[in-house]
Parts: sequence; C-alpha cells; structure tokens
Amino acid sequence: MSLETNYDPDNIFAKIIRGDIPSTKLYETDDILSFIDAFPQSQGHCLVIHKKATATNFFDIDAAKLAALTVATQKIARAVKDSLKPAGIRIAQFNGALAGQTVFHLHFHIIPVYEGQELERHAAGGQANAEELAATAAKIRAAL
Ligand code: AMP
Repeated sequence: MSLETNYDPDNIFAKIIRGDIPSTKLYETDDILSFIDAFPQSQGHCLVIHKKATATNFFDIDAAKLAALTVATQKIARAVKDSLKPAGIRIAQFNGALAGQTVFHLHFHIIPVYEGQELERHAAGGQANAEELAATAAKIRAAL
C-alpha cells in the first residue's frame, strides 16, 4: 500500500467501529474510539482512531478531525501514564506499508515502555491473552 490509496471500508478498524468484530475498548465518543492493541508491544499498548474520518493515513484527514484525534490521544496517553506508570511512552503513527503500516485506517499507537523490558516487535508479536488485556484496560479506564 502506497501513500496514495483509497480507503477500504472493510479494513479491520472499520469493522471494529461498526462492531462487526470485538475490541477491548478504553474510550468511546461519537467521534473517537480507543482500544487495546490485540498484539501488544508492551502492557497497555493501545490505539486511538477517529470513527468518522475515512482516512488511510496522516495525509488524508482534515485538520479539525486530526485535532480531535490528537487531543484524544493525549487524553488516553495520560491515563496510560497515570495507571500503568511506565518509564516512558512512545506515540507512534505509520504511513504506507513500507513505513510499517499494516492497517489502513489512520491511527495513533500509545506504547508504554518499562524499565528493563524490551518492546515486542511492531505488528509481529503474539496475540495477547484476552483476560490480561481486559485487566489492563480496566486499569487504564479507571484513570480516564
Ligand atoms: P500499523 O501496523 O501501524 O498499521 O498498526 C496496526 C496495529 O493494529 C498493530 O499494532 C496490530 O497489532 C493491531 N491490530 C491488528 N488487528 C487488530 C485487532 N483486531 N484488534 C486490535 N488491534 C489490532
């Protein structure tokens, strides 16, 4: 997938927005959805998307929606910071398959980094245990 690509309404995040497939939700409004990454690079790795932006990447979204998405990303990242107390947090966003993008609905990653723990590789880790994801999500939600 290059940077110039049409939005596919059947991408996996569009299915999550529609409720066609499940997700471990952290936060939802009419416009924004945040959920835990199913193949986390660390405990609390989560994603933030705009539900109404049919944008494959950073370049396709209008400024107002990008602003809302960015503000929501900061809100969720603060809750991750307060609840899980990582040593650092990466905010990441990939554009185009060659840059590492694997799902073509614009999203921000929030990736906590813990002292002495290597991150799992991007989009290459194992699927996390659903109970562990739910427990982590409950901690983050409590800090929102
Ligand atoms: P990217 O490679 O930047 O497009 O990120 C896509 C992310 O979506 C990866 O970190 C995947 O682990 C994650 N992912 C893929 N499928 C799902 C899913 N069904 N639920 C939650 N996260 C997913």
